[in-house]
Amino acid sequence: MKTVKDYIRTIPNFPHEGIMFRDVTTLFGDGAGFSLAVDQMVEAAQGRDIDKVAGLEARGFILGGAIAHRLGCGFVPIRKAGKLPGSKISEAYLLEYGEAVVEIHEDAIEPGERVLLVDDLLATGGTAEAGIRLIERLGGQVVGCSFAVDLPELGGAARLRAMGMDVDMLCA
Ligand code: IMP
Repeated sequence: MKTVKDYIRTIPNFPHEGIMFRDVTTLFGDGAGFSLAVDQMVEAAQGRDIDKVAGLEARGFILGGAIAHRLGCGFVPIRKAGKLPGSKISEAYLLEYGEAVVEIHEDAIEPGERVLLVDDLLATGGTAEAGIRLIERLGGQVVGCSFAVDLPELGGAARLRAMGMDVDMLCA
């Protein structure tokens, strides 16, 4: 039987020379593969009493939307700077070169809501940490961080666990 990892391809030298890019479009594009990934992420979320799923742009929207539907809860997008139309808050985080900014609508999460953070891939954990800070600034409680793929050599899971997060990933 195929595992989630079997549906993900690696493309060398994208977006830069020397980077081995994990391409999850082949996972999303296969009905059995996509269902398997969503089923496993939903399974990992059981018992966490989740009120909202927050997805990180852009591939976190695809998984997060499907997971929210399965859990019967709302979905909140955490977007790159300048995309959200309403009143929002921002968090900057460091990239290898320079910085990036992510944003969330300030009314997207009510104080005390239990939030599952979702993305396709965890590398250094910088994006996820910025997402966690946004949710926590709105008074939300991040009750889990769920990723399809982890790149353990980049330390993201250790970084999030050091913040006290529960981190789930389907494959490395
Ligand atoms: P981090 O902030 O270093 O953990 O990088 C994770 C973010 O970059 C996520 O939003 C991923 O979608 C994206 N990302 C980094 N490397 C890859 C990759 O190899 N494949 C797909 N997405 C990636």
